[in-house]
Amino acid sequence: MGKEQLAKSLKEILGLRWSPVAVKLMKPGEEIPKGLMEPPMPLRYCQSIIAARRGNCLYMPPRKHACPDGSGILGMVEMSEKLRSGALYLLFKKLPNIECAQKMIASRPEFETGSHTATVLAPLEKATFVPDVVIFTLWPEQAMWLCCAKTYSSGERQNFITSGYNSSCADLTVQVIKSGEMNISFGCYGGRASSEIDDFELYVSIPYGQLQDVTDALQKLSVKSIPEERNKIYMPPIMDNVGIPGVQEDGSVEILIDTDRCIGCELCAAFCPGSVLEMVEIDGKKKSSVIAIENCSSCYTCVGQCPQKAIQLKHRTKVG
Ligand code: SF4
Ligand code: SF4
Repeated sequence: MGKEQLAKSLKEILGLRWSPVAVKLMKPGEEIPKGLMEPPMPLRYCQSIIAARRGNCLYMPPRKHACPDGSGILGMVEMSEKLRSGALYLLFKKLPNIECAQKMIASRPEFETGSHTATVLAPLEKATFVPDVVIFTLWPEQAMWLCCAKTYSSGERQNFITSGYNSSCADLTVQVIKSGEMNISFGCYGGRASSEIDDFELYVSIPYGQLQDVTDALQKLSVKSIPEERNKIYMPPIMDNVGIPGVQEDGSVEILIDTDRCIGCELCAAFCPGSVLEMVEIDGKKKSSVIAIENCSSCYTCVGQCPQKAIQLKHRTKVG
């Protein structure tokens, strides 16, 4: 799949508001990709990601980087002693003492000074270069599905390394390139104070080489799991008795199966984690039936999975 098609699929499946941003760190001697512009004024690296998610294709040599911390971490310029020592973190009151600041800096992923000459960024669908990483702006639910997609083929859980300090440069770019693994960031002080990222948004960055597999997995997840979750299919109906003084659930549940509606598809019995349901024959037709009500945990899985809306759960209540 080309970058344009990847971006289209990802936007459609996840319902993205913003384009995923393709990022490449230029090495000495590399040719500048076509179709990029230098921004008219210096931008912080985090601001350039925001500009790219809105459609801009940017070439950012060090003179166009407004954040000396970011351009130092990305290996483009020597970091000033004031930044390198951690002293500025104390002035901003972001860390309690110099030991803490130095520990944070020492554990921060960085590239060696001089290893890169510029950053280039573009919305994935417009990128004229092979990106190192692709950075997504997401809601938590969309990030959850990206995690699921990553786990889908490997079975492996995610192991994020993140900090709330130097989000875009260290955690979303250097960390991902060096480790070859997806990473998450909730943004950082500078990034949130100087860009339009919304309070409810976070970032996930993926090595470009893994994007095809992740998109393939998302396509498979979008057949059943994603729409089911978005339709909230296991939500109990409105709980009429909540808040009525003296009325409380007595802890028992009754399962009502409308046998006229039931088509005997067996989905409820297959999905029920407690083996509460079984298929029986009624008037020569297969129908769902309750065989072990005591095992029912009221998870609503059978209700959500039934294509005929044939199942209801009734919680018994008592007054007083
Ligand atoms: S899922 Fe619904 S239609 Fe299918 S067997 Fe169960 S009750 Fe019947
Ligand atoms: S609510 Fe859950 S445990 Fe109870 S019958 Fe349905 S699927 Fe089984």
